[in-house]
Amino acid sequence: MSNDRSNGTGVSRRQLLGRATATVCGAAIAVAAGTQSAQAGQISPAAAGYQPMPKGDQRCDNCTLFQPPMGCKFVSGEISPQGWCKLYVKRS
Ligand code: SF4
Repeated sequence: MSNDRSNGTGVSRRQLLGRATATVCGAAIAVAAGTQSAQAGQISPAAAGYQPMPKGDQRCDNCTLFQPPMGCKFVSGEISPQGWCKLYVKRS
């Protein structure tokens, strides 16, 4: 006697579990790949002309690209809230 029972569709429970596991693993890999490409899309502080001091009233903590507490969507590494770079976009 087998543990694989058909559910009436000709597909066993074991086959369904295998397909579900493959789908979940595929989704996890896609999420991980998306995260890596986002990080790879960042540029270096030097390329962005980053400086750890503000430029007038322009500073990272009022830039739309700033990610508190010490990050930026486009510039890699630790970003000071008081910093500035050439990619600055005023938060509205
Ligand atoms: S000014 Fe904006 S784009 Fe430039 S490092 Fe700061 S948060 Fe990032």
